[in-house]
Amino acid sequence: MLETICDILVDAYKRNWITSRDGNVSIRHHDRDYFYITPSGVRKQTLQPDQFKKIKILEQGWEELPYTDISKNLKPSGEIPMHFGLQRMLGQHNHDVRVVVHIHPTYIVAAMHAGIQLDKLVKDFPELGRYTKVAPNVPDVPPISEELAQGVHNNLSLDKDGYTKYDIVGIKGHGVVSIDTSPWRAYEHIERLEHICKIVLASGNY
Ligand SMILES: [Zn+2]
Repeated sequence: MLETICDILVDAYKRNWITSRDGNVSIRHHDRDYFYITPSGVRKQTLQPDQFKKIKILEQGWEELPYTDISKNLKPSGEIPMHFGLQRMLGQHNHDVRVVVHIHPTYIVAAMHAGIQLDKLVKDFPELGRYTKVAPNVPDVPPISEELAQGVHNNLSLDKDGYTKYDIVGIKGHGVVSIDTSPWRAYEHIERLEHICKIVLASGNY
């Protein structure tokens, strides 16, 4: 699956949904007390599975576990507070895998910049809601911050049993966070919402 995460980040780069060093992804198997996360500052076109960071989930916070010689010299993504808060809680229930994807899709970010509330789009585009539940936007928050992590957790409606009410949330002036049971499934939520945002912005009617 780490290989697949590398594939989706290359795809996101090709679509201009990230620049080289943007974007981060984490993955956890529900019965394990650790997760993997992409390293900070690595070019996503050349990201390799042995560059991932392995992170142990502790009562209070996290610690890095040894993984590979290459990853030893790398740091985890700066957005680790957002990933950690989700992965700690999501791992409690009986899904095989939970994947959290964060990237900066062009039309979704443009739609929020234009003042569109992403969760309202389902009214005019019911197909969107068939497979993807869209959360209310997180307002402007600094990147790599506790506020971003909290805003994402709150708006996804993460509960104490590790369930979220929504699959994807937009962060104004920044990007999206999407969750599912495989990298491609999480990526599909982004693709679906991006397509609708492109249509709305092309129509000029918003
Ligand atoms: Zn970002």
